[in-house]
Amino acid sequence: MAETIFDVAIIGGGPAGYTAAIRAAEYGLKVALIEKTDKLGGTCLHVGCIPTKALLFNAEIWDHLKHAADFGIAGIGTPTLDWAAVLKRKNAIITKHVKGLEFLMKKHKISVVPGYGRLTGAAQEGVHTVDVAAADDAVSQVKAKNVILATGSDAKMLPGLEADGSVLTNIEILSLAEPPKSLIVIGAGAVGMEFSSIFRSFGTEVTVVEFLPRVVPVEDEEISKELTRLYKKRGIDVNTGARVEKVEKTDTGVKVTYTDANGKTQVKEAEKVLVAVGRAGRTANVGLDKTRAELERGLIKVDEAQETAEPGVFAVGDIVAGLPQLAHVGAMAGMVAAAKIAGRKFRPIRRDRIPGCTYTEPQIGSVGLTEAQAKEKGYAVKVGKFPFAGNSKATILGNHDGFVKIVADSKYGEILGVHILGPQATELIAEAVAVLELEGTVEEMMFAIHAHPTLAESLLDAYGAVEGMAINA
Ligand SMILES: Cc1cc2nc3c(=O)[nH]c(=O)nc-3n(C[C@H](O)[C@H](O)[C@H](O)COP(=O)(O)OP(=O)(O)OC[C@H]3O[C@@H](n4cnc5c(N)ncnc54)[C@H](O)[C@@H]3O)c2cc1C
Repeated sequence: MAETIFDVAIIGGGPAGYTAAIRAAEYGLKVALIEKTDKLGGTCLHVGCIPTKALLFNAEIWDHLKHAADFGIAGIGTPTLDWAAVLKRKNAIITKHVKGLEFLMKKHKISVVPGYGRLTGAAQEGVHTVDVAAADDAVSQVKAKNVILATGSDAKMLPGLEADGSVLTNIEILSLAEPPKSLIVIGAGAVGMEFSSIFRSFGTEVTVVEFLPRVVPVEDEEISKELTRLYKKRGIDVNTGARVEKVEKTDTGVKVTYTDANGKTQVKEAEKVLVAVGRAGRTANVGLDKTRAELERGLIKVDEAQETAEPGVFAVGDIVAGLPQLAHVGAMAGMVAAAKIAGRKFRPIRRDRIPGCTYTEPQIGSVGLTEAQAKEKGYAVKVGKFPFAGNSKATILGNHDGFVKIVADSKYGEILGVHILGPQATELIAEAVAVLELEGTVEEMMFAIHAHPTLAESLLDAYGAVEGMAINA
């Protein structure tokens, strides 16, 4: 039988890889998807986006129940948390979506090849060879005209530490037998802040230790400042500008020694410590050294079509240099690479059009330039800010924390950035993504009708606020 030569072989079945596979198949290409574990979905589905958001929803319901009487719901008594049921629900959500992916692979006639994929070098006569090592170490070969690397990332560890029962990464923390009594979170990016939010809701004493001067450091400074205030109000001990010196095991858990922002040594003890200090791309051991692909601090350099310096070898997702490590970025990069391989039109990923969502309580949704970035770029900046305190739907929800901030260019009124902290911010940001994609102006958006009563009206008020003309504040 003639050997199959695929149009594209994809290494890694996370959101970047499976999205590339589906889109390539939709273009009519013959696709192989190589995955080393027995389940598709990657970090995102198994130990990232989906399980964390499932737990955050449990936390939200739990928080609502604490205030049931305020909503006229009596007789709840003292709710108790069935943690095993919480984890069971989370796992059922994951299983449902793994099955969904399996269905999609069949629907699109994608050949899923189990095993560990490794490039063997440049293409020979236009065909790449990928070695695939099965669980029993038997090596087979997949041949394809193009290869997309989508191997994802692992949590970084602090030097000398290893994940175990008390030192946790995103993996271990998602299957704890019960919420810890106390938790130190090292790192105040999205992952650290989301776990802090989850476990604080369930009653854990949470301490956050962040090296940089502010939490969620990629966000607009005003967002970091207000989130810090609200976390402290929730009883979370937030320490920024703090350098971790030592993490030691104790009889009861862990002891973290750090130097605080004033240069003083501080020691905190807790039952568990979560290390959430970033993620390292899985770029070793995939055969990159046998190609011309270039690395930048361990991540792969690509052009605007996601192609590496090795012709026909593409990279998408968390392994790519210069893009945020987010599922929706990886998925879009997969669609871009698939379009390029199929010879179809595509729009390159623009860094300033990527929404960033942090599903904390309250949530953050942002897109485009922060106020500081817009000023650095030389724009004459105008800012409009509207607090959720003036929004009637927020009152109905009983959630007035936060604000919408619009960063606009004062010359043409173009909206450069939208930064939301507050209820449903991660849903509201979709409007802002569309506005930025279409290069909308403040004037246009001030006359775009927003339904009443909605949280989205806070955007309308914030556009107005740029001209000093919010209605509800
Ligand atoms: C706790 C947490 C919460 C997060 N929440 C969000 C969120 O809410 N929203 C968001 O956008 N992002 C979130 N992220 C980030 C998101 O999970 C990643 O950006 C996303 O999973 C990256 O997708 P990927 O396909 O590049 O890699 P991965 O999801 O890591 O998938 C890579 C796949 O490749 C496989 N693989 C690796 N090497 C090989 C090989 N050599 N051969 C075969 N298979 C291989 C792996 O087994 C895996 O299945 C979160 C991350 C964490 C840790």
